[in-house]
Amino acid sequence: MPRLVSHPDEVKIISRRFGQGAADIDKYIALDGYKAVQTAIAKGTDWIITEMKASGLRGRGGAGFPTGMKWSFVPKQSERPKYVLVNGDESEPATCKDHVIFLHDPHAVIEGTMIAGLAIGSKMGFIYLRGEYRYLLKIMEKAVADAYAKGFLGKNIFGSGIDFDIVTQTGAGAYEVGEESALMESLEGKRGVPRIKPPFPAVVGLYGGPTVINNAETIASVPHILLMGGDAYAKVGSERNGGTRLFGISGHVVNPGVYELPMGYNLKKAIYEVGGGVTNGRKLKAVVPGGSSTPVLTADEIDVGLDFDQMGKAGTMLGSGGIVVIDDQTCMVEFALRTIKFYQHESCGWCIPCREGTDWLNKTISRVHAGGGVEKDLDNIRYLAENMLGRTFCPLGDAAAMPTIGFIKKFRHEFEDHLNGKPCPYAHTEEPALV
Ligand code: SF4
Repeated sequence: MPRLVSHPDEVKIISRRFGQGAADIDKYIALDGYKAVQTAIAKGTDWIITEMKASGLRGRGGAGFPTGMKWSFVPKQSERPKYVLVNGDESEPATCKDHVIFLHDPHAVIEGTMIAGLAIGSKMGFIYLRGEYRYLLKIMEKAVADAYAKGFLGKNIFGSGIDFDIVTQTGAGAYEVGEESALMESLEGKRGVPRIKPPFPAVVGLYGGPTVINNAETIASVPHILLMGGDAYAKVGSERNGGTRLFGISGHVVNPGVYELPMGYNLKKAIYEVGGGVTNGRKLKAVVPGGSSTPVLTADEIDVGLDFDQMGKAGTMLGSGGIVVIDDQTCMVEFALRTIKFYQHESCGWCIPCREGTDWLNKTISRVHAGGGVEKDLDNIRYLAENMLGRTFCPLGDAAAMPTIGFIKKFRHEFEDHLNGKPCPYAHTEEPALV
């Protein structure tokens, strides 16, 4: 369970109701809850889209696509019903930000879903939680039931003449379902594998209707943005990266937890000041900055801003905001092995580069880690991973290849230290702290 933490550098927008009992609908209302949706009803679709565009909010699932623009792509007229789909299939290792939102502020997800529905002209929203979050489903279901009981959901919401319904759903525990088209397949009761694109979900999505799919953190940010104004929200963050986001700091760090920091906040400060530095006074070796699929940074590369653009320039990605701190006693070959084992296990097996690539990477890195590798294996690891990049059907192939390339490029010397029967030279100590 992620720890509820606090630090003076935090700017609490999305987390401002955490720890205040806001899962209770009356408490949520007392904390300005359901005001934003009423304002949105009064001011209309164009105002919502304008505020969202002004906010600079970019998709918090990891892709970083501007939310206001995404909503504006949904056709105004449609013969089929339109849908809002909230992606709470938070499965990227090291990521636990949506978890704290569902736990502490479920009505923010509901209110954000309603506002997204108003923006695109939809009468129906789905909130999809990962299978392992079944215990959070109970919280979400209660919140939805309470909103119906108050008359906030259902027919004629807030006397507007507009109907809006929400259904909650869980998956069966598959990372792949975090991909938006696989998520729709799963929600429709089918096997969670991706769809061929185009058509894109904004045009042909859930049940064939135009669908907007947003990450849970993105959606929960929406009511706050409308309350404070898009321009004010944008000013909190960095250039082209409006607002704040929830960062989960974990691994070998003194104060692990989920922190809300402005976009563009310095990664080094996040680790040493917010996170309190490396445990047991050890040195930092590396950082995985945005969940397991993001390329690793060495200790010398972390003086960089945490936003989509600055992380991209640093050769990695902001990803899902899951920062993993790695100390100098960690074996990077084992880290790479654990990472690829996850993706090999989660590959749906549809396309060859991902299915075979993750399998061969697992086999080869396993051999190197066990001391049975030869020099040629290291070139093969890089060759395999580089040939998966951009050649797979969905982003899981890239998610497996990108970190592998980072590990073999930046820590090749550690892979070499394992060759020709040598034992692993990096002693293991204690297990790292979980958020
Ligand atoms: Fe399936 Fe992997 Fe291909 Fe995605 S990249 S469709 S997970 S085999």
